[in-house]
Amino acid sequence: MRWIRFVLGKSRGLRNTFDRLPTLVTRFGLTSRKSQAQLRMLLEITERYGVRPTLPVTAVTARRHPKIVRELEERGVEIAAHGYVHNDYASLTREEQFEQVSRARDELAAMGLSVRGWRCPYSRWNSDTLDALRAAGFEYDATPVYAWPAYAQEGLVLPPREMADYERLCELFGVRDASMNKVLPTMVDGMVQIPMSIPQDEDMVDRLHLDSSTMIRVWHRMLQDSRHRGDVFVICLHPERVSLCAEPLNATLREARERGDVWIATLGEIATWWNERDRRRLTVEPSGTGRWTVGVNGSDRMITRVGNQMVTGPKHLHIESVRRPVIHAGPIWPPETLQGLRDAGYITQNGSEQASDCVLDLDRCLPPDSSVDAVTRLAEEQSADLVRVSTWPAGYRSCLSVTGDIDALTLFDFAMRLKEF
Ligand SMILES: [Zn+2]
Repeated sequence: MRWIRFVLGKSRGLRNTFDRLPTLVTRFGLTSRKSQAQLRMLLEITERYGVRPTLPVTAVTARRHPKIVRELEERGVEIAAHGYVHNDYASLTREEQFEQVSRARDELAAMGLSVRGWRCPYSRWNSDTLDALRAAGFEYDATPVYAWPAYAQEGLVLPPREMADYERLCELFGVRDASMNKVLPTMVDGMVQIPMSIPQDEDMVDRLHLDSSTMIRVWHRMLQDSRHRGDVFVICLHPERVSLCAEPLNATLREARERGDVWIATLGEIATWWNERDRRRLTVEPSGTGRWTVGVNGSDRMITRVGNQMVTGPKHLHIESVRRPVIHAGPIWPPETLQGLRDAGYITQNGSEQASDCVLDLDRCLPPDSSVDAVTRLAEEQSADLVRVSTWPAGYRSCLSVTGDIDALTLFDFAMRLKEF
C-alpha cells in the first residue's frame, strides 16, 4: 500500500504507471539475461573511452545476483549502495534510516564488495540520511539533483502533459536549478556530497519520449555548459535503458575525450579528490610593500593561482598586490557560506583588523543571508586578484561521471520492490 500511494501520488501518477507496465515486461525478463545484455552494452561503450562507471545497487538486488555484481566490480565498475531496499528515505524515521543504511552497508560488505558511496532511491533524503551515512562510514553521498536548463536552451517545447510530468519529477527529487547555482561537490561535516544531473534517461525516454538525436543534443548542451562553468556533470543512465540511450552516451563520452580537458572520473575518485582538496592549508603573509607570499600546503595535483600566476602542488607563490588577496568574512557569516567559498577554492579570514586590507570584504558587500551562490558569484567577479585553488585536479577544466542505478535486474526484483517498499 505504501508503494502504491507513493508511486501514484508523488512519483508517476496513475496514467504513467499503467503506461509503463508493458515497457517493464519488455525491459526486464524472468531471468537476468536482458539486464546482463544491457550492462554489457554499457561497459562496451564506457570501455571504448577508458571510462569507469559508478553503479549504485540496492542491497537486496545485489544479494539476489551476487555473481553479476561481483563481475561488474571485477571489470572495473565502482559499486555504490542504493538503499537496502528501494524506498523513500525522506519518509523514514531517523531510526529507520540508521538501521537500513547500516544493513545495506553490512550486506554489500559481506558479499566482499568495496563500497564507499551512496545514492538514495528516488533521490529523496534529509539531514538524518547524512547522519546515518556518516555513522555507517560512507565517504560520499551522490543524491542531490540539479536540473540543467538544456531543454529550454535547445528550444525543446514540451507538450503540457509531458511538462507537468517533468515538473512532478523535479518536485519529487527536490531538484536545485543549475542555472541559479554552481554544480559542485560540497563537504557537509566531513562527508562529500556529489550532485546528480537531470535531464537523465528516465525523463528523456519514459516521460518525454525523446529520440536519440534529441537526447544527444541535450547531453551535449549539458557537457558544454558544465565545461564552460567548470562544474560537474553526473550522467544517470539506468541499465535497463542503456540500449535506448547508447548513442547519446557514446556521443557524450566521445566529445568529452576529444575536448581533452574534461576529467572523467568515478564518484569515488571525485570524493577522494574533494577530500584531498579540502585538506589544503594556505597562508598569505606580507613580504614587503604591495608584496605577498602565498604558502601552499596541499596535494600534488592541486593548482593554486592568482591572476595569471600559478603553481602546482605544495609550493610558494610570490605575488604583487596592493591588498591582501583573500576574502574577509566576519563572524556573521554562516558556516555553509564559508564552506561554499572553500568549495569554490577561495581563502577566507575573519580577523576584523585586516578587513579593509582584503581584496574583498564580504561584510560590506552583501547581507549575511545571501545565498552561497550569490557570494561565490561576487568572489568570481574579483577572481583575478584573489588566491584560488583549482576546482579539478591536474589542470582539468570540468568533470564528468557516468552513473546508473541498479534498481532491479529481473521482473521478480521489480515486483519485490512493491513488497519491500
Ligand atoms: Zn533507483
